[in-house]
Amino acid sequence: MKVLVVEDEPAMVELLRYNLEAEGFDVASAHDGDEALVVIEEQNPDMLLLDWMLPKISGIEICRRLRRDPKHGNLPIIMITAKGEEADRVRGLDVGADDYISKPFSPAELLARIRAVLRRRNPDVSGETLNISNVAMDLVAYKVNRGGRELRLGPTEFKLLRYFMERSGRVLSREQLLDGVWGQNVYVEDRTVDVHIRRLRKALNGEGEPDLIRTVRAVGYCFERA
Ligand code: CA
Repeated sequence: MKVLVVEDEPAMVELLRYNLEAEGFDVASAHDGDEALVVIEEQNPDMLLLDWMLPKISGIEICRRLRRDPKHGNLPIIMITAKGEEADRVRGLDVGADDYISKPFSPAELLARIRAVLRRRNPDVSGETLNISNVAMDLVAYKVNRGGRELRLGPTEFKLLRYFMERSGRVLSREQLLDGVWGQNVYVEDRTVDVHIRRLRKALNGEGEPDLIRTVRAVGYCFERA
C-alpha cells in the first residue's frame, strides 16, 4: 500500500514518512498541490494524506478535483489541518474526504484513522481471504472461486486478480498493473497486461456471468464491486 503525503512542511513530511514506513507503508510525498496531482498521475497511490493549507492549490481544491475525476474518484483521502473548527471539518467531508485529522495529532491516532478508512473502503479484505462480488480468494491456500465454482488461474492471473480485488472499484492503469503485479524494475510490454487480463477474464467469467473486469477506455481496468 502506497500512501502519498501532501504537505509543504518538510519536518512534518519526514515525521509522517518515518511513522508510515515503520508500519510497512510505501511513502511518496509532494510539497504542493500541483506536484501532488503529478505524483498521483505517475504513482497512483492507494491513499492520500492531504494537508489543508498548501501553496498554490489548496488541499480542499485537490480533494474536490479528485472526486470529480473518474480515474481517482475513489482514492481514499484523509485531510490534515491545523484548523480545528467544526465548520471546516464539515467542509472537508463535504468535498469528499474520507476522514479528517487536526494538528497536533499522535502518529498512533493517524495510523488508526488510516486503518479505519482502508477497512471502510475495503470491508471484505481480511488477512487471509478476499470476498468481493461473488468471488472468494483464499490467500493461504491459493484458491479462488466464483459463486462456488473453482477457478483455475496461473500464478500471474492469481496475482493480477488479487491486485484488482484489493483495489476493487478503482480504475487501474496498465502502468500501475505492471508495477504492482510484475514489479517496478521488470521490463514487460503493455500488451502483456492485456494478454493476462484476457486469460483472467476467460477463467473468471463463466457462461452468462457478468464481466467483473471493466475496461475503461484510454485509462485502464477496474474490478467491479457488485
Ligand atoms: Ca501546510
